[in-house]
Amino acid sequence: MTLPAAVPPLHSLRERITALDEALLEVLAERQQLARSIAAVTQEDAQPMRDVEREQQLLGQHVQRARALGLKAGFVTRIFHAVLEESLRAQRAVLAPVPDVTRVAVLGGEGSYSALAARAHFEGQEGLELVPGARFADVVQTLRQGGSASAELPIENSITGSISAVYDLRRDGDLCVVGEHYLQPRHALVARPGLSLSQVQRVLGHPQALAQCERFLQGRRLPLQFCDSTDHALRQVLAQGAGALAAVASPEVAAAEGLSVLASDIADAADNETRFLVLARAVREVPLNVPCKTSLLFSTWQRPGALADVLLVFRDAGVNLTRIESRPTPGQSWQELFFVDLDGNVQGEAVAAALQAAARCTRTLRVLGCYPSERLPPTGVPAAVLAQAQLPAVEPVPAAAPAPARKAPKGWTLASRAHKPQDTVIEVGGVRIGADFLVMAGPCAVESEPQVEACAAWAAEHGARVLRGGCFKPRTSPYSFQGLGLPGLALLKAAGERHGLPIITEVMSPEDVEAVAATADNLQVGARNMQNFSLLKAVGLARRPVMLKRGLMSSIEEWLQAAEYILAAGNQQVMLCERGIRTFETATRNTLDLSAVPVLRELTHLPILVDPSHAVGRRDLVAPMALAARAVGAHGIIVEFHPEPEKALSDGPQALYPEQFARMMRDLYAER
Ligand code: PEP
Ligand code: MN
Repeated sequence: MTLPAAVPPLHSLRERITALDEALLEVLAERQQLARSIAAVTQEDAQPMRDVEREQQLLGQHVQRARALGLKAGFVTRIFHAVLEESLRAQRAVLAPVPDVTRVAVLGGEGSYSALAARAHFEGQEGLELVPGARFADVVQTLRQGGSASAELPIENSITGSISAVYDLRRDGDLCVVGEHYLQPRHALVARPGLSLSQVQRVLGHPQALAQCERFLQGRRLPLQFCDSTDHALRQVLAQGAGALAAVASPEVAAAEGLSVLASDIADAADNETRFLVLARAVREVPLNVPCKTSLLFSTWQRPGALADVLLVFRDAGVNLTRIESRPTPGQSWQELFFVDLDGNVQGEAVAAALQAAARCTRTLRVLGCYPSERLPPTGVPAAVLAQAQLPAVEPVPAAAPAPARKAPKGWTLASRAHKPQDTVIEVGGVRIGADFLVMAGPCAVESEPQVEACAAWAAEHGARVLRGGCFKPRTSPYSFQGLGLPGLALLKAAGERHGLPIITEVMSPEDVEAVAATADNLQVGARNMQNFSLLKAVGLARRPVMLKRGLMSSIEEWLQAAEYILAAGNQQVMLCERGIRTFETATRNTLDLSAVPVLRELTHLPILVDPSHAVGRRDLVAPMALAARAVGAHGIIVEFHPEPEKALSDGPQALYPEQFARMMRDLYAER
């Protein structure tokens, strides 16, 4: 690179950057102030605080403008997501402020996770005093007797599920939910300085915290001792003389107590999260324009369909239920109590009407409270904007001709339109497969961290919705690159997460299904394995969506029966992928059977994708076949590209150059 003649000195460049950063801060502060003013206006006009469609449109415009200024879509989207979230939080704080309380009851003292959650939820309130309880029942008792204005209790965890004891304490229905809080406990094994991991003889902790670290603790066969709270566990570790006790606790809290960390991040899942409820003695109203949740408690009559009747009331009212939990009623064996959370305000028209209707088909029904939703999920940028088309409305995939009444086919039923007339839409990581046209893209094989990172960044930037990459490669020759296996899958997953893309990867043998499904959002069964029936049964037991590629020499009828294996094993998330078949023609790697698409659209409800890359085997033919696939009604394509196709370890000749991929995306989403 040649530098322009007069480059200002480094310090002056840095000064200009600092000045810009300061200007940025002022702009952000002003924006935040405006957001609060907007809240004041919406308060009066009762306008909804959020208008997702408008947010999406604005974000799309910002991305287009940002690109014109030479900025990347992903970069700008991340920034605007953070800015919008903060602005929504500010508006919510004006419209539905967390009430001032002086005393909050929690489990355990300051070292417990409940204390961390309460301090975070009531952040910034002066003189906040936590009232510790030894057990959940004590916490609830404090609140009931007026010893505190609120109580903050854990209700569910992403690893261990519902915290039944807390549900049961809410059975009387006298305690109202007035808030929720999400906390990500980063469990560590902590002990007095000087003790090493191998010297630990017993691990203390709250049963919930220990259960969330089951794999770590079980693997080391460490004897466990349940404590009333994490704080209680810490006190015992601190109080011991030269003992060999360790505790599961937050590393920050442990450090503040002078304890050292023997092992960090020991929870079974990295995204461990606990949802807390904030309880009070009286309900609190939430303004109608604030996104909120409502909690209910009901019981039904003992007759067939009694629960379904209640649930259908909410469906018919268009109310989304986010959680249902059933708990026993002591003294009335097998009379279940149902706790339900739903999206919506108890005073809103839809919820209020649904509640009236639900009262008619329940034995008991009680509203436990209405509270602002803690989560404000960001809106996405439309693929058409990312693909750089002028927008707007992407023509929807033409619906299949209305299914004439037809007999169920022989040998396959679950895949047929006779079984299910409506198109199946598979939802994975915020992406809908089987609805609007979508693109899955990435390298043939995961080769290295920088390669897969470059692919993920480029794919996301240009509107792809799913990141592909093979880690177990079915190669014709045993001497060809066989893939990086599970370490490659970890790289693919991390790259996908960095750029907001769920991933798809091939699984080749039944023994690998569990390990691959633990990480991959979607499983792929390759063409060579279409009739590997053991593999089909194994992916049928997995909980991940499966893309079944058409066998090199398979008829549509055989292909649908292969799909039936997966469906019959219980997995209803199957998509089909036409990737070319063997014919006498040698000009292309395979012959892309595009007529299979409309044929399948008529026969089956499953989503249908097309893989132009493996079909043609030549990069110059990929884009035209991709456009053709869209034209014949495919729900999407899966396509290979590579940062440096000449250096690709597999399928280089069919890999698109990054720019070629971007151009294809623009053409696919061009206004038509
Ligand atoms: C692939 O998608 O990486 C692949 C190997 O495809 P196919 O099974 O269609 O050959
Ligand atoms: Mn390939």
